[in-house]
Amino acid sequence: MSRQFDAVILGAGAAGLFCAIEAGKRGRRVAVLERAERVGKKILISGGGRCNFTNLYCKPDNFRSANPHFAKSALARYTPTDFIALVEKHRIPYHEKTLGQLFCDGSARAITRMLEAECHAAGVQIFLSQRVQEITRTAEFVARAETEAFSAPVLVVATGGLSIPKMGATSFGYEVARQFGLRIQKTRPALVPLVLGRKEQKEYCDLAGVSMEVIAAADGQEFREKMLITHRGLSGPAILQASSYWERGKPVQIDLAPQRDVTSAIRESKTRNAGAARTAFLGILPKRFAERWVELHEPSQWTNAALAEYEKQIHQWSFKPADSEGYEKAEVTAGGVDTDELSSKTMESRRVPGLFFIGEVVDVTGHLGGFNFQWAWASGAAAGRAL
Ligand SMILES: Cc1cc2nc3c(=O)[nH]c(=O)nc-3n(C[C@H](O)[C@H](O)[C@H](O)COP(=O)(O)OP(=O)(O)OC[C@H]3O[C@@H](n4cnc5c(N)ncnc54)[C@H](O)[C@@H]3O)c2cc1C
Repeated sequence: MSRQFDAVILGAGAAGLFCAIEAGKRGRRVAVLERAERVGKKILISGGGRCNFTNLYCKPDNFRSANPHFAKSALARYTPTDFIALVEKHRIPYHEKTLGQLFCDGSARAITRMLEAECHAAGVQIFLSQRVQEITRTAEFVARAETEAFSAPVLVVATGGLSIPKMGATSFGYEVARQFGLRIQKTRPALVPLVLGRKEQKEYCDLAGVSMEVIAAADGQEFREKMLITHRGLSGPAILQASSYWERGKPVQIDLAPQRDVTSAIRESKTRNAGAARTAFLGILPKRFAERWVELHEPSQWTNAALAEYEKQIHQWSFKPADSEGYEKAEVTAGGVDTDELSSKTMESRRVPGLFFIGEVVDVTGHLGGFNFQWAWASGAAAGRAL
């Protein structure tokens, strides 16, 4: 025997809960099945525990997908302003940290409490510690967990991506997509620190902890933010952003001194030598990095032409990362259920009526800064309104 609902949603993360609220408000009997013992575990750890829940400047350009147009419709129909109104209705204090990123003043728990309260008000039933292991479909979809089964004419897959496996990320959503014949865009870790090759590790990684503002670029996308040197490579917002566009074997370029003319001081100095270079770089880069750069990159000559080349080097540091830090450290998973398989208005499968995919399991990946949650809310709302 299975319990009967109008809609069964797999995953009580950001997207699943939001979809449940919208569908519940429209009078649907909704069950949300969650493998963990509590809802929204990723929300709780997000934004350093304060949840960067949206971004004021959210645009379709802030998302990567094989089809860059896919997210437009859902994002336009549920905007950051809509989510802010909900946050304000629940009197959750928040602030803009930087670049339109909105964070809770207190704990991210305020967001999960808000979602739980909204679910409760909408009559949504949440079943915790229910790891769904199998989906079957005859007249209806049946989701089987260890001890119970849940059936409904509609199934929404909101099981998230593969990042942070130790928090219980599963590939179940992708398996359901494959089971029903939907294509998947290859998945890979995104918003993830990069590991340098052996040579660069030797040259720079003892400077772990040094950070500076840079422009990091991969596959033609540029991000001007902070970069941090780590024990194995590079991290910080600029690198995390670029990592979403980086592919193994391809280079990353870094402008280490954006909009600065580093060598003008050397050109103007009476003595053109390593000492003058050191002084010039010290004024612009963090001390330890400046010293290391000069040590490793002394030009063979001090002519104007050689200095022009020297200047170019600092603005176009190009290297091939050995790897990324993988799903263990990735904030999100790029790739996922191919958007060509889904309606951009409702997130419903074009081939399998009644089957929906929302949130991170879909091939839509946001930039760093609250965009991934905005996609979870927006895609959840799009599906919830269609159930
Ligand atoms: C450390 C970290 C910090 C982050 N900070 C931010 C931030 O500040 N701002 C931002 O916008 N984004 C942030 N993100 C990204 C954001 O958390 C995700 O994009 C978002 O949570 C995706 O929502 P989702 O509902 O699609 O998936 P999830 O939140 O991952 O939810 C999926 C749910 O499905 C459940 N599940 C999986 N398989 C099964 C199964 N077989 N049966 C039942 N349940 C199942 C999981 O337990 C989980 O609860 C962060 C991510 C990480 C890892």
